[in-house]
Amino acid sequence: MTNTQDKDQKKRKRVNVRRPDVMEIVEQEVARHYTSSLVEKVKANHGGVTIGNTTVILAQQFGFCYGVERAIDLAYASRRVFSENNIYLIGEIIHNPEVNEQLEEMKIVSLPWQQMDEQYDKLGTDDVVIVPAFGAPISFMEKLEKQGVAVVDTTCGDVMKVWRRVNGYAKNGITSIIHGKKGHEETRATASRALGKDKDGHYLVVLTLDDTDYVINYMLNGGDKAAFLARFSGATSENFDPDAHLEQIGVANQTTMLKSETENIQKLFREAIINRDGKDEKFQVFDTICGATQERQDALFQLLKNDMDALLVVGGYNSSNTTHLVEIGQEHLPTFFIRNASNIESLERIIHFDIEQKTLVPRSYSELLDPEKKIIIGITAGASCPSNLIEATMVRVFELRGIKKETVLTQ
Ligand code: SF4
Repeated sequence: MTNTQDKDQKKRKRVNVRRPDVMEIVEQEVARHYTSSLVEKVKANHGGVTIGNTTVILAQQFGFCYGVERAIDLAYASRRVFSENNIYLIGEIIHNPEVNEQLEEMKIVSLPWQQMDEQYDKLGTDDVVIVPAFGAPISFMEKLEKQGVAVVDTTCGDVMKVWRRVNGYAKNGITSIIHGKKGHEETRATASRALGKDKDGHYLVVLTLDDTDYVINYMLNGGDKAAFLARFSGATSENFDPDAHLEQIGVANQTTMLKSETENIQKLFREAIINRDGKDEKFQVFDTICGATQERQDALFQLLKNDMDALLVVGGYNSSNTTHLVEIGQEHLPTFFIRNASNIESLERIIHFDIEQKTLVPRSYSELLDPEKKIIIGITAGASCPSNLIEATMVRVFELRGIKKETVLTQ
């Protein structure tokens, strides 16, 4: 096979499932599974609904973003186009358990995303593999090409923008400092692109301001290299040497980080380079927080201007952008991170996910939600949360306050 044929063969393996006839059906299916006419009505009505002494206010922006909508559409379309084939998915399409369970019901089988196992070796030319919205590391993509499977790539365009940036850093011999979670799918995929075309680039993932201070202290004063590498185990490129690879740095971030924290980290690294070199020539930065994450964080800050008694944040516990909404909320008022309406067991008991302890914690709030008291509850959700879960949460709040579901739905 010539090089051109080889290239064509690989290109053909990336399939486009967006056929108009398919998408017409898919749109109806997706709408049936995830939309809510109540939520649409409330949104149109400036985001609030009051019945009796209970008010629920929704953030102006919440729930499914364009990247998530696209990924779900493509997964549904894959099932339609490849009705007879085995369809696999690398990890989760997005971080929402309800959506992932729905895909499982459609016989879309999740493959490991942390490392490839023998299941990847068994993939064949009749198989279809969906790449999630977060993307996948280069090693996974190379494996899929080698196995000759059909790839439906749902990687969000905003994630690919980050890849282009870190790839550019690598091309110019610049180490990527990635503000993100080292074990998050998107950051792993981005880190693999930070190695560059020849795979000899470098990266370092930092998560917190503590991490940042530690790295900066090392850059300015040196330190114990072994301790550095132990602290950032699993968060650096292979053979990363803090004495050599922090000379020229470029900052990028996971698309779903907290904007204020990311900006702080960028500023601290720039100041460190100026302190060290007297100028910032060896520093580059590119804000890669996506528009959808930004809009949801901004909308929450707007929502918080209301005098609310509590905030409910709905979404998957492993969702990065949802976790940041919880962080913002809990600085201001009692905030509950719930997967869905069933977490609100009663007026006395809400099962809340504690983001510090990373565990579910039942909390008693009988006074807060006392049915005799006038209350205002705010609701928001991350980019991976469908509207039907918001509707169920609204209905649950009103029901516990003695207002029937039918009354809520006819608002
Ligand atoms: S949260 Fe941002 S990066 Fe992630 S899928 Fe949505 S738009 Fe894309």
